[in-house]
Amino acid sequence: MPRAIIGKGLRFSLRHAPCAHICRYCLISESRKRSALPFSRFEQLVHRFHDWKAASHREDFSIGIFVGPSFDYDLETLAGVARLHARRGAKFQILNLGGLRIRRGDELIAWLEERRAAGITGFHTSLAGCGETHDRWNGRAGDFDYQISILRLAGERGMVRSERLFLTQNTLPIFDRLLDILDSTPGEVRSRVASPFFYAGLAKRYENERLTEDDREKLPERINQIRPARFDNWLSEREWIPVMLETATRPRKLLLKIDVDETNIEHLENTSCEEIFAERERQYQGSYRRVPPLDELCSRYGDPTSRKIYMMSRDVEGKWMDMHECETGTKTPID
Ligand code: SF4
Repeated sequence: MPRAIIGKGLRFSLRHAPCAHICRYCLISESRKRSALPFSRFEQLVHRFHDWKAASHREDFSIGIFVGPSFDYDLETLAGVARLHARRGAKFQILNLGGLRIRRGDELIAWLEERRAAGITGFHTSLAGCGETHDRWNGRAGDFDYQISILRLAGERGMVRSERLFLTQNTLPIFDRLLDILDSTPGEVRSRVASPFFYAGLAKRYENERLTEDDREKLPERINQIRPARFDNWLSEREWIPVMLETATRPRKLLLKIDVDETNIEHLENTSCEEIFAERERQYQGSYRRVPPLDELCSRYGDPTSRKIYMMSRDVEGKWMDMHECETGTKTPID
């Protein structure tokens, strides 16, 4: 029996602000492309779903958005994204630094002050090591210093920050140096997590960079302290296998992604919210029907000797699905 898929909501995604990086571990394909769809039409569509959710009392239905690939928004888009977050009772206050184009001197300060005046209270940075190591992972010379300079300017203005620090074979030896640099940068750190790469997008090419069980057992306390609370049981593939098999037959609840662009906006605008959701759920279910159930994937592709560590079981499952696609040509399910 294929795995049952239940949609728990929708996540609308718009390519609106092209990315100025070419990260080697990027989860998003073609990060420099942008859609010609004006943001206002995207916003209206998402508001319609919020209205429908409220009117039909679907309290458990989740509505998410991703407006990217970078957060290099103009102020109008920033206000629109904040309105959409407010519909979920959330505040949009933290901007990602990933993929911002380079601004210098007064232009950078003016950019930062404008965002502060618009309600942004801090920045999120994703760093893969420091100095040239980070720059190489991010595909832009000087990017590490640029991100630190923004964090510094922000910290001096009382703004906060959150940090995701990628842990790989080549960032592990310089992790202490990275933490020293961050600790000496002004500003309140709201969150700091260390994270292996997700098995997704371009990062799939760097399985050799994964830490192993042996690395995990020897991690310095400074790193262990910043394992993310929800995903701190970093297990190897051989350790994940029994955990995954225990829940293999349970339905999977997913937030269903819809990429919105100029080619499908008219259809989305002219179709009821129920139909859009039902249609997307059917597409997801169909794509999962084509691949074998998890226990079969595991028996075919699981490696009970692999000691490489993954943060989530979905990473391991994704790897097996890719192996299945490679062997049989069957496309991996929609993600
Ligand atoms: S900043 Fe983000 S979207 Fe842009 S290339 Fe890097 S990982 Fe991809």
